[in-house]
Amino acid sequence: MSSIAMRVLIRIVRAIGKLFPCKPVIRPPGAVVEDKFLKLCIGCGHCIEACKVYGTGVLTFTSLRDGLKIWRTPKLDVARGFCGISIGVCSPPYPCTSACPTGALKQISSRVKLGSVVWFPERCIAFRGGECFVCVEVCPLNAFSKGSSGPVIDQSRCVGCGHCVRSCPANPKALELRPVGSVRIEDC
Ligand code: SF4
Ligand code: SF4
Ligand code: SF4
Repeated sequence: MSSIAMRVLIRIVRAIGKLFPCKPVIRPPGAVVEDKFLKLCIGCGHCIEACKVYGTGVLTFTSLRDGLKIWRTPKLDVARGFCGISIGVCSPPYPCTSACPTGALKQISSRVKLGSVVWFPERCIAFRGGECFVCVEVCPLNAFSKGSSGPVIDQSRCVGCGHCVRSCPANPKALELRPVGSVRIEDC
């Protein structure tokens, strides 16, 4: 399929998708506010390719299961890895953001926050009395500390990289990354 035909298909699918719910997803650094992001993102995948080559490869395209409205847009997938912002693999200018040809992703110099980690105590090995605290060990920004009944997160330190979520050994995972509190660019 030609790129023009693909763009037309993307527009049609996303327009139909406005009638249906979609899943919350974590966007790359520098994403503009969601409604403008969806207008600007043409689904070219340049950000995803840049992440593979220069970053950690954590980005992938949303699927139809994520929702028609957000189809073929970039999202963080913690099953693939975590964002390199927390360990210095990526710093401004971010590779993904630099690769975006439309301004859906913009370079930012202010603090990046991609989302927030939510803890589910009933799934947590430490909360249930087992040996764990892997999240405390792996967070590069020391956002977790050991509490008396499980890990305690300091959201002001967390940038939403997803390293702890990826590393959590509980099944199902006791941590989830949500786009809550994410810093999105308004000036676009
Ligand atoms: S900042 Fe780096 S690791 Fe994070 S999404 Fe962009 S390219 Fe990938
Ligand atoms: S590079 Fe920009 S326009 Fe292309 S898929 Fe990524 S966010 Fe969308
Ligand atoms: S708490 Fe988790 S998502 Fe937040 S910075 Fe630390 S490892 Fe990354």
